[in-house]
Parts: sequence; structure tokens; C-alpha cells
Amino acid sequence: MLNKPKIAFYWASSCGGCEVSLVNLHEKILDVDANFDLVFCPCLVDTKKKDVEAMADKSLAITFFNGGIRNDDNVEMARLLRKKSQVLVSYGACATGGGIPALANLFPRQRLFNTVYHGNPSIDNPGEVEPQTSSVVSAGTLTLPQFHDKVQTLAQIVDVDFFFPGCPPESAQLAKVVDLLVAGGPLPPKGSFLGSGRKSVCEECRKKKGDKKIAKLRRNWEPVPDPETCLLEQGFLCMGPATRDGCGGLCPEAVMPCIGCYGPPEGVLDQGAKMAAAIGGMLDIQALKELNEGEIVDRIDKTLAATPDYVGTFYKFSLAGSLLRGGVKLRE
Ligand code: SF4
Ligand code: SF4
Repeated sequence: MLNKPKIAFYWASSCGGCEVSLVNLHEKILDVDANFDLVFCPCLVDTKKKDVEAMADKSLAITFFNGGIRNDDNVEMARLLRKKSQVLVSYGACATGGGIPALANLFPRQRLFNTVYHGNPSIDNPGEVEPQTSSVVSAGTLTLPQFHDKVQTLAQIVDVDFFFPGCPPESAQLAKVVDLLVAGGPLPPKGSFLGSGRKSVCEECRKKKGDKKIAKLRRNWEPVPDPETCLLEQGFLCMGPATRDGCGGLCPEAVMPCIGCYGPPEGVLDQGAKMAAAIGGMLDIQALKELNEGEIVDRIDKTLAATPDYVGTFYKFSLAGSLLRGGVKLRE
């Protein structure tokens, strides 16, 4: 096909898993190649930033942007690709909710640097060197982008047309979107989530569900779960009620609790708050009837305290996009 629509696939602060979801399209990637010109994708195509700068504005039909915004370079690329793209997709958990890197938002930047460059037993750094934005060496001046205090989502920096959740997004869902694009749409309204549903993982999970009642939370290695029954009802902290559907309930299907990688369902602003509310509503009511209000609060606190890492469990993928946004100082 001559003059194929141009597409881009960019990574900001991410691990590369989103690119793996592209490769995992398997033979479907031939459809991508037949119908689109992949002009910018740092892990596959040797196009440079200056080549993108030279493109006409809106000359990219669609850009899939993965990774959170951690530094100045990420901001610059987000702005550049927004300018050059007709459609910008926030691809994956890090671009959409901050992802695991955003858990560092709980700590000040210097604390992160101390951990990585100084107070770490595997580090040998006698000169107490830290990365500098500008360093003069014999060959000239080397520069590094400024490291920001917090990870931000793509939509906190530029206007985003669509969101595509998941860590990484499911390739089968990406394949459906490729089919939609090849067919020429129509695309859903701006702001929609692609490659996912609007409800929760519980809706697509095939475990036996009864009255969700939990007496206590258990760690994953405590008794071996009954593989047929809802994991949360057995006390295993499954984020299914507070997580958007679309993956097919992959983790519970493998008898592992959902860890929330698709972010909050439609209409839920804060995944962690939704999960805390869900757990509060599941505590054994019969037992609560015999308690006074203070004892009930104490019981809820103790149940939640049984979660070893509250933020890391309830906001593992969504902290930067949550109501908290990591702005609340939770620990020293
Ligand atoms: S809580 Fe987890 S195991 Fe239970 S129905 Fe929801 S997704 Fe499935
Ligand atoms: S079950 Fe949860 S953690 Fe597992 S892939 Fe689905 S949304 Fe992600």
C-alpha cells in the first residue's frame, strides 16, 4: 500500500513490557506492517528525535505512548508527539496511572537518590557521585534530563485521546484495536478506554462467587487457595473488585490474586479507595453486629493493617493518577 498512514510507538519511563505486547501480536504484526508505516519506535526503528521534529504537525495518524513522565526528556517527547499526532493513545499502566515507578512518589527525590547512589550495600561510590544534568568531560559537555520530584501520567502533561490500560496491555486486545484501525474505525468517543471493558475484573472472572465475606486477610503463601472459589472470599487480597476488566481475568484464572494492573474501573476515581471500601463492605457483618462503633473501626483498621504494604498493594499501578497522586506524605 502506498502512502500508508504513519504510526509511532514510543516509550518514556517504562520497562519495555509494552513493546513486548506489540511483539506478542505474532502474525498480526504483519497486518500492522501491511497497513501502516511504523516510522518511530526506538526499540525497533532507528528514527531519531530530529526526524520526528522534521515531520509536519499531525503527520502521524496515531501514536501509542507508553511509560510515565519521570524527567524533562519524557515531557519534551510527550509534547513533541502530541504535536505530530492526530491521535495520541496513553498506552499501558505507566502512561495511564503512573505504574510501579510512581510508587516512588511517596518519597522525596533525595531519598530516592540516597537509596540508589549512596545507602545501598551493592553500591561502591566513594566520591558520593550523583547524576548531574550537565557534566564537562574532555570530549565536551554531556547532559542528562532533569529528574522530577514525582512521576506523572501522560494526561497530566498533554491532551490524550484514548487510554489503553494494562501492565502490559493484553496483545489480544491490541490485535482487536489494530483490526478496528485497519477497518477505518469508527473509534469510540475521545477519552474512552481501548482494549478493555468498563466494569471490574470480577465480572469476567470465572471463580465461584458467593456472599463476599472475609474474616481476615491472608498472604498469598498462607493456605493453598481453593482454585475454584473467589480468592477474595478466601481472604486473599484480590484487587478484582477495584480493577477494570479486559484482561479476561488472567491472574485469578491462574489462581493468583489480581494485582490491579488495568487500573480503576469506569467512573472510579481512586482505585485504592475503592478497594478499601470494598474490603470494608466485606467484613463479616454477623461478627460486627456484636461490636460497638469504635470496635468496628478498630477491626477495619486491623484488617487493612494486615496488608503489608498498603499503598504498594492498593495503588501498585495507579498512584500518579489517583486522588492521592503521591502528594500525601505517608512515610518518612
Ligand atoms: S475478587 Fe478476584 S477471585 Fe474473586 S471474583 Fe473478583 S477477580 Fe475473581
Ligand atoms: S487479573 Fe488483574 S493484575 Fe492480572 S492481568 Fe488482569 S487486571 Fe492485570
